[in-house]
Amino acid sequence: MSNFKILHKDGKARVGLLETPHGVIETPNFNPVGTQATVKAMSPKDLNEIGVQMVLANTYHLMLRPGVKVIKSFGGLHKFMGWDRPIMTDSGGFQVFSLGGGMEEGSSKVVSSKNGKVKESPRPKLNKITEEGVTFQSHLDGSTHILTPEKSMELQLHLGADLTVAFDDHEYRDDAKHLLESIERTEGWAKRSLAAFKKLDSKQLMYGVVHGGTNKKLRIRSAKFTDQNFEAIALGGIYGTKKQMYQMIDYTLPQVSENKIRHLLGIGEIEDLIEGIKRGVDMFDCVAPTRRARFGSLYVSNNQTLSIGQSKYKADKKPIDPQCSCYTCQNFSRAYLRHLYLSGEILYHELATYHNIYFVTNLVKKIRKAIISNNLPNLKL
Ligand SMILES: [Zn+2]
Repeated sequence: MSNFKILHKDGKARVGLLETPHGVIETPNFNPVGTQATVKAMSPKDLNEIGVQMVLANTYHLMLRPGVKVIKSFGGLHKFMGWDRPIMTDSGGFQVFSLGGGMEEGSSKVVSSKNGKVKESPRPKLNKITEEGVTFQSHLDGSTHILTPEKSMELQLHLGADLTVAFDDHEYRDDAKHLLESIERTEGWAKRSLAAFKKLDSKQLMYGVVHGGTNKKLRIRSAKFTDQNFEAIALGGIYGTKKQMYQMIDYTLPQVSENKIRHLLGIGEIEDLIEGIKRGVDMFDCVAPTRRARFGSLYVSNNQTLSIGQSKYKADKKPIDPQCSCYTCQNFSRAYLRHLYLSGEILYHELATYHNIYFVTNLVKKIRKAIISNNLPNLKL
């Protein structure tokens, strides 16, 4: 059951509240990704301090390691990872297609780009897709697994997330014929996901996923189907260019009920958050803030980033972003962070990730305030 309430609108942008078993989420909201039941380099204490409202964990990774049985024996993910606020899990669908190929040693020859020599290289095995589900090899040890809508729902129930995602198909190319086949498979799997949830007597809120790539007609069809069957709407699949993604949101959202929560899966760069929220998206998740931090890319005001490894920051006494009030910016200089980064120090990852997650969380809070005061178009980044 969805307990989502819209409190205010400014154009298409919405401010709302989503009630979950682990607390209320203020929307719009950005969720950092905790693939392995941890947001990399952040403790739950850090996330609480920053004001993160929900994290997303990956069913695919957790089913392979440590195994959902282990997590279930702790009473679910919240207790296992020491996080008592809302958690969302995905269906595993995206990862079985993108990662679950296993590795077959010495099975193909590739030309090394470094020296032009031909050498043996591991090649991913193909997944087998049937109407039943997806058979895949673990990317960790090559062991064979099958993920079906029923299995995904059972795993997500045992993980105990507050928000879950219906099992969906990601095996498509962006042409109308294959997209149609893929949507038909996703619709069949969606119905089986719902039936499995009913049978398991799960009370979790489940997102159905709108697919259709960049094809307007198919996106509309998929949006109508998802709205008819689900209480929560996620947009997923192939988005194309940024312009095509924004158009897709514009085609899709008018097809779904106003009072249902809408989540743009896997998106979270600053300008995409703003464009998505303006178009009526309520929720986002993305690895961008954590991944960027690991590679030295730190957010600063005016929709910019800086590369902390650059020599111009060698003796720079300023904080990462003079306008940021996070712990890192209140206490450390760019020069110190650059030194930690170049030295490969663990503390760099903590401080940099803290700043990036704080920056995005705080930005979304600012956007929320701007919507409440009908001032979104004038928001300064
Ligand atoms: Zn900061």
